[in-house]
Amino acid sequence: LQFLQQCLSDLDEQLSILGQRLIVLTGEPVACLQPLIDTFDINRLARAKHPGTEERNWLAAIGRRNPQLRCLHADSLRLWSTEELPFAINELPPTFSQARRQLESLNIAPPAEAPGSLPPPPGGLNVLPPDLRAAVDTQSLLVKGGSAAAHSHVKAYFNSSAPSVYKETRNTLDTFAHSTNFSPWLASGSISPREIIAALIKYEEAHGANQSTYWIFFELMWREYFHLYAWRHGARLFLQTGHRKSLPYDLQPTARFSDWCSGNTAFPLVNACIHQLNETGYMSNRGRQLVASCLVNEMGLDWRLGANWFERQLIDYDVASNWGNWQYLAGVGADPRGLRRFNQDKQQQLYDPNGTFIKQWHGSHQ
Ligand SMILES: Cc1cc2nc3c(=O)[nH]c(=O)nc-3n(C[C@H](O)[C@H](O)[C@H](O)COP(=O)(O)OP(=O)(O)OC[C@H]3O[C@@H](n4cnc5c(N)ncnc54)[C@H](O)[C@@H]3O)c2cc1C
Repeated sequence: LQFLQQCLSDLDEQLSILGQRLIVLTGEPVACLQPLIDTFDINRLARAKHPGTEERNWLAAIGRRNPQLRCLHADSLRLWSTEELPFAINELPPTFSQARRQLESLNIAPPAEAPGSLPPPPGGLNVLPPDLRAAVDTQSLLVKGGSAAAHSHVKAYFNSSAPSVYKETRNTLDTFAHSTNFSPWLASGSISPREIIAALIKYEEAHGANQSTYWIFFELMWREYFHLYAWRHGARLFLQTGHRKSLPYDLQPTARFSDWCSGNTAFPLVNACIHQLNETGYMSNRGRQLVASCLVNEMGLDWRLGANWFERQLIDYDVASNWGNWQYLAGVGADPRGLRRFNQDKQQQLYDPNGTFIKQWHGSHQ
């Protein structure tokens, strides 16, 4: 909440510089927007195209109720707009590798300039200023929400030498200092993937391109793929069977879920990762894979319980990346190899041989 409110507070500040203001409404989106549309005779609506099915349904409902509305849909959450893709979204290749081969050589349009002026708010607008009390930095979050913080983070990242060694460092357990940390700001729309690519290109021009700088692009293509996957599969993103027709194995929901989500399993590394998530809203990519594998393979639980827990806890929660990755690991998504099972002991030896991470996050039972 604090991170999200910081994002809104930042947006409010940017709008007020241009003589505008932010209106924050809480409730069911269609019911919240309708009085504004009616009162101010609104006939244009602009939005970033969102891959979530609920968001799409809300927008469709608003359109049905208000045939006068002209809608501008911007593909600003992705690297490529629908028109720029080499395939129709319904023909999205079934695996990331197949899609990547078609995507990686495409041109990426530079980010659009932010507008220098805006029309004033409608006269008679009588809405209370947004209540953003949680935005005040009373707790120390790992990251600060908002576009200003996002841009200064991206600038600092590309002013360091980290991009040139990214590929070697990203796959560790406590990656906060070792990967880009772009995800919370991408997920909240505080920065666009095109802005990041523009900064990456500048970095490569100044310092040279290598496998690591390419890998930043590679990972952003994973994000792109999951966004397209969410568009392609719609509500099937949330089905236990994913986009497959039958379950590849048996999944039985059991009461052990509460052990998993409180970090009280038989696996110290899993416990440590979950504690880190619950305390900070952050978990490394490696940690996410391990805890997901544990939930599905060791505890025999429905993968959607884990995806739902992540949705509640992650600061960088993104509907497409979260549910797409969970499906992938559970063997019901975009993975030709099926179920992914990690050997927890081996992972612990590989990624936390001295038990430092487990100790830091109290992963061992007392
Ligand atoms: C089970 C599971 C759930 C996940 N849920 C989310 C989620 O809700 N939101 C989210 O942003 N990422 C999610 N991821 C992907 C990945 O773990 C995070 O994007 C990454 O850890 C964020 O840290 P970073 O920004 O330092 O990433 P980096 O390693 O520096 O990667 C750069 C960027 O590439 C993108 N990226 C990297 N890996 C992936 C991936 N596997 N899938 C999609 N995009 C990727 C992200 O936008 C990231 O910011 C999930 C992964 C798993 C295994």
